Amino acid sequence: MALLEEHEEVGIPQHCAGMIIKKGCELLSVRVPDEVVQAEPSTVRIHYVGRELEVGLELYIVDRASFDKHLAELAASSGAELLTGHKVLRANRLGRESWSLTTKRGRELRADLLIGADGYKAVSPSWAGLERPRDVASCIQYELELDEEVDTSVIDCFFGSDCAPGGYAWAVPIGERSIRIGLGVRGAPRPAKAYLDALVASEFPRARISRRLAGLVHVGGPIRPSYTDAFMAVGEAAGQVNPLLGTGILSAIASARIAGQVATGALEEGDLSSPRLSEYERKWLELLGPAYELSMATRQLLQGPARGAIEELLAASKRGRIHVAIGALELLVRCPTLLKHALRWRRAGMAFFI
Ligand SMILES: Cc1cc2nc3c(=O)[nH]c(=O)nc-3n(C[C@H](O)[C@H](O)[C@H](O)COP(=O)(O)OP(=O)(O)OC[C@H]3O[C@@H](n4cnc5c(N)ncnc54)[C@H](O)[C@@H]3O)c2cc1C
Repeated sequence: MALLEEHEEVGIPQHCAGMIIKKGCELLSVRVPDEVVQAEPSTVRIHYVGRELEVGLELYIVDRASFDKHLAELAASSGAELLTGHKVLRANRLGRESWSLTTKRGRELRADLLIGADGYKAVSPSWAGLERPRDVASCIQYELELDEEVDTSVIDCFFGSDCAPGGYAWAVPIGERSIRIGLGVRGAPRPAKAYLDALVASEFPRARISRRLAGLVHVGGPIRPSYTDAFMAVGEAAGQVNPLLGTGILSAIASARIAGQVATGALEEGDLSSPRLSEYERKWLELLGPAYELSMATRQLLQGPARGAIEELLAASKRGRIHVAIGALELLVRCPTLLKHALRWRRAGMAFFI
């Protein structure tokens, strides 16, 4: 098995904020090595139209480059041949169930099965004749050095069209006096950088920028089908990113693992046909589908009719539990579809943390 990576070094350039929910790791039995962890916050402070709400949630903040290197080492120690500096330029079918790949270095490879894991570039599905994921959020991040100590137990998330239209902003601790702050926007009237500069100026006016990172993330939901004869798309190449939060590390790991298991069975049986590989989509949908549906519905709610009622509920959270209960009832009366979403919460269950 060959694992082809276009860059000379795995994980570089880095795009990601590195937030991974611990419950998701437990659910998937994913071990995050200590040496890649930059912080372990236990509270998410949500800022929305001037209000704040604190929610208990245990996370890892990882250095993505180091974490990706760790994953690549795991693959190599399991027998994969890691070929860095090998950008796949194109993949052509040789009959229904095999491929010819050409890399930028001019190397030609033959493969019975192709697993497209090319992330936000998501070109591989088009080689297989599938749709590519849609609805891209533009993201930008700075790493900041601060004069004061950071509360490493908290991450901040900022929602609202003034702050990050069509997306949200985050600030995560990565050291005693350093944070990674960034945001993603969709359909915004100004470039992402303008919103980030405004946020930094208001929240951390004396900070020094030590590093700039930028990237794109697909938040339009997963492609379907995500497989065809001798092909499966995994992770962001298949749009497997939480449409509300833009998180996709654990879902990429989960779907890649399912694809690996299905591939092993299909190769042993000598059947790489589309019907055989449909098991992959059935399994990842079972795991991730309800959580994606819920996230998309919540996103539409936050940006749509329930916005005012949610703002009032957040205001009530400062006045005590009884006010929250009354606010929640008012919200339900104004947005009865919330009941449907509440049922989705039950279905989505723990997978929401992936
Ligand atoms: C700014 C930003 C912040 C984010 N923050 C978070 C977060 O905090 N938590 C979270 O869970 N998710 C986050 N995400 C999303 C997350 O980064 C992705 O969903 C996740 O990395 C998807 O994993 P993947 O393996 O599918 O793709 P990737 O991690 O993008 O990996 C794809 C790999 O394929 C390689 N590649 C691409 N094309 C080719 C080619 N033609 N030939 C060879 N190699 C190729 C790339 O170099 C890359 O190494 C963030 C995204 C952005 C942009």
